[in-house]
Amino acid sequence: MTAQSPELAAHLARAEGYVQRYRDNGVLNRIGGQDMPGELGWFDTISPVDLAPLARVARGGPGDIDRAARAAQAAFPDWARMEGAARRKLLHRIADAIERRAEEIAFLECLDTGQALRFMSKAALRGAENFRFFADKAPEARDGKSLFGPGQMNVTSRAPIGPVGIITPWNTPFMLSTWKIAPALAAGCTVVHKPAELSPLTARLLLEIAEEAGLPPGVWNLVNGMGEDAGRALTEHPAIRAIGFVGESQTGSRIMAQGAATLKRVHFELGGKNPVIVFADADLDRAADAAVFMIYSLNGERCTSSSRLLVESSIYEAFCAKVAQKAARIPIGHPLDPKTVIGPLIHPVHEAKVLGYFDTARAEGATIATGGEKVPGPGCYVRPTLFTHARNDMAIAQEEIFGPVLTAIPFDGEAEALALANDVQYGLAGYLWTGDLARALRMTEAMQAGMIWVNSENLRHLPTPFGGVKSSGIGRDGGDWSFDFYMETKNVAFATTAHSIPKLGG
Ligand code: NAD
Repeated sequence: MTAQSPELAAHLARAEGYVQRYRDNGVLNRIGGQDMPGELGWFDTISPVDLAPLARVARGGPGDIDRAARAAQAAFPDWARMEGAARRKLLHRIADAIERRAEEIAFLECLDTGQALRFMSKAALRGAENFRFFADKAPEARDGKSLFGPGQMNVTSRAPIGPVGIITPWNTPFMLSTWKIAPALAAGCTVVHKPAELSPLTARLLLEIAEEAGLPPGVWNLVNGMGEDAGRALTEHPAIRAIGFVGESQTGSRIMAQGAATLKRVHFELGGKNPVIVFADADLDRAADAAVFMIYSLNGERCTSSSRLLVESSIYEAFCAKVAQKAARIPIGHPLDPKTVIGPLIHPVHEAKVLGYFDTARAEGATIATGGEKVPGPGCYVRPTLFTHARNDMAIAQEEIFGPVLTAIPFDGEAEALALANDVQYGLAGYLWTGDLARALRMTEAMQAGMIWVNSENLRHLPTPFGGVKSSGIGRDGGDWSFDFYMETKNVAFATTAHSIPKLGG
């Protein structure tokens, strides 16, 4: 663990200032521009650093969701009618306001999630970028196509689908909230947001920022609470036309069932067990840096983390030794310490799940090359871990661990690499390292994943599609794909000739 530095002490004092009002007033729901308590009372969140109480949060239930859905429904006609250029201006104002509160956002995110400041200091910037990207697309959201047929011209247009529900997970909640909500607003939808119960602070701050920037009341509503009551009610509410969900695959499956009675349109960004495939002909130093970055950054609590390392046999031992050496040197510490790379995991229950895989790995016969233990002390700190000599049929290779834990498996040749890469229920992301272009083309064509990076870590480009296949998701975000989800397409066919119409009945 890193020792307490003067910089950390200063950050802690400022962070305390930011969190104080949530301790005093609680994290309230916000419906139709009004602060509201939850009908089911309150729940408490804890700091993953030392398990001390952090905030008191309104526990919303079906009645709160009903109020929020009605507020979103009432605000919908005016918001949907607003001209694209005006919406663009307003969403840019929200982005400006997000950037002005960057430190507050970063510090609260660190305290709430345990994520390190070196990554969270970019949360506001990334959130603002999401707003700016979709702001600029707002004026073209309604655009369609002209399609000519024999004696017919078809004109398509798009219109916002209506009030939508957004349900987000606890990892990187600020960035993910902006990623889901910005395109919904840009499309002309109104929103009811149900953030994760484990890290609700920045979702509340984000909505305040948006309203201060001029977003009309009711366009965006926030109901905190548990998945089983507030989340469930949102997915079942008849006024909510669609659900944008980010979270576990099993929850996605439950939401699909819950939304069936009201025929909800769903968009799911779910779990992953993403392979990073390293061939001997790759630039191995860059591959090792990227593999380490993609599993140990953000505490490994990242849907696109490269949690399976598939390495060609001829370089397996040397490559794994290099990764293990780097992993063992990663600084672990308080999330607000600028030197920290790995902070505490989100919650003791999640920590217990991750630690459980260390026993599983031993029982399955894998080797723990580094890590494999809790850092002594009160917080949810787990050492960066590498399992070697693993097989793809082991639980540590099949199940999403969602921590700083990497499972390394050797392979011989392209066919085996491909078979291993695809032999999981998930298909979110894949990473491929090779110096052979033709091999990269063959492999990427056959890899079952929604997103693949060749000779690179995950570098997001907002116009590109984001999403997974198999148990990793349904639908795509990013670029125009987001608008396809939040909007309905209408086709109008114009006859261009006096064609002959079938005459029935004379
Ligand atoms: P989770 O599924 O437990 O919870 C996500 C959200 O769903 C929370 O707000 C929760 O309250 C709500 N919820 C739970 N049960 C519900 C129900 N029955 N009805 C409606 N809502 C319900 O996920 P988590 O543990 O918070 O997040 C971690 C998971 O998220 C991991 O699997 C990770 O891979 C995934 N994730 C995916 C992406 C992606 O883009 N594919 C991004 C980030 C996280």
